Amino acid sequence: MSSRTEPSFRESVDLMFNRAVKLMDLPPGLEEKIRVCNATYTVRFGVRLRGAMHTFTGYRSVHSEHMEPVKGGIRYATGVNQDEVEALAALMTYKCALVEAPFGGSKGGLCIDPREYEEHELELITRRFAYELAKRDLINPSQNVPAPDMGTGEREMAWIADQYARMNTTDINAKACVTGKPLNAGGISGRVEATGRGVQYALREFFRYEEDMAAAGLSGKLDGKRIIVQGLGNVGYHAAKFLSEEDGARITGIIERDGGLFSDDGLDVEAVRNWIVKHGGVSGYPDAQFVEDGTALLEEECDILIPAALEGVINLSNADRIKAPLIIEAANGPVTAGADEILRKKGCVIIPDMYANAGGVTVSYFEWVKNLSHIRFGRMQRRQEEARHQLVIDELQRLDDVMGNTWSMSPDFKDKYLKGAGELELVRSGLDDTMRAAYQSMREVWHSRDDVTDLRTAAYLVSIDKVAKSYHAKGL
Ligand code: GLU
Repeated sequence: MSSRTEPSFRESVDLMFNRAVKLMDLPPGLEEKIRVCNATYTVRFGVRLRGAMHTFTGYRSVHSEHMEPVKGGIRYATGVNQDEVEALAALMTYKCALVEAPFGGSKGGLCIDPREYEEHELELITRRFAYELAKRDLINPSQNVPAPDMGTGEREMAWIADQYARMNTTDINAKACVTGKPLNAGGISGRVEATGRGVQYALREFFRYEEDMAAAGLSGKLDGKRIIVQGLGNVGYHAAKFLSEEDGARITGIIERDGGLFSDDGLDVEAVRNWIVKHGGVSGYPDAQFVEDGTALLEEECDILIPAALEGVINLSNADRIKAPLIIEAANGPVTAGADEILRKKGCVIIPDMYANAGGVTVSYFEWVKNLSHIRFGRMQRRQEEARHQLVIDELQRLDDVMGNTWSMSPDFKDKYLKGAGELELVRSGLDDTMRAAYQSMREVWHSRDDVTDLRTAAYLVSIDKVAKSYHAKGL
């Protein structure tokens, strides 16, 4: 154990911010304006459950309103506190700027262990929390748009959307007050797996560049690479599933609350997930070696480490024992500022959270736009595309006649040609495009400046610059 003390999550984010901002030339005062959280609202509300009154504590923090609405998830976990939501809200600001989602940063949380409550109880609690936030415009389609985070999902978002709609019956854009809703409540295809998909697309992009791989001492393709993933929740599960099923990567380790699984041959992600759902943890899973101290697996030999659970898991106490040459931060803040320094010195490449897990908010943006446009995502473009395709088909048919029916178009081709891409394809290609462009903007800074030696600093430089420019455009 190092004698250095670990800063709080919020301080850790600030330290990383400061490190980057030192390399910039911002007008005096603007640096602080960008760094600080604008406001954090704390609410304590009561809900009558099981015959007694229970008091809950919740937060919604707004980090930066350089663009509105502000955006960010709502987390349900017992460890939620003001420092955490503020750190997470700050990361949302930088994340949105980096992937050019036109939002400011925000985050919310409720101190609760959702597993301790029945579904109808969670609904009462969520609706009450949503009511408290919505009446202060901390849920609002044009001002603050929450989304799922740890411990919440489609179900909670549907309750929040309905609660807001009941309170604002004349708001035609009510559905856009929250993203990550189920499809039948105004959601968008591909949102559930979006963050995991984004991690996959980020790694695919990284592995397109020899130079970047070499910086981590890696070479070749994603195919066959050994991956250890911490947390088989929504993000970790989808990332591990796609990387193993579609890119040929080998998931050699999975770390969960109750321990870890290890298998040099690679784990069957779907089977492990099913085991967890059935047994509440990984313990007892038959086809792998069980390690009681799961976090020890973070230090195991592998090519890629994917922390996809909590913040601060790679810290001063274990950083120097981490062997992975490449870490992709699927979680927010899994590497503390001190650990980041140790790993950087060791030559480990870290694909930073604000980029790595931006797939969620990117697809949230598509959902929000879909809700505001009141038309199925891509439908207009599809009609346009169809009209253009019809012109081509008509012309081919005309030529066919002129040439004296020397060939005939198959009706099957005509049908497929006219159908075009559906919502899911549009979401995926939009996400892929976003992840690739954002990676390229980071790597360009990483490789072109001598004073930038890591992707995180590059990511901060790109995003702070964008936030600064929008403050400038506002005349500040
Ligand atoms: N909670 C997710 C995140 O940390 C998604 C936020 C959103 O979609 O607004 O990025």
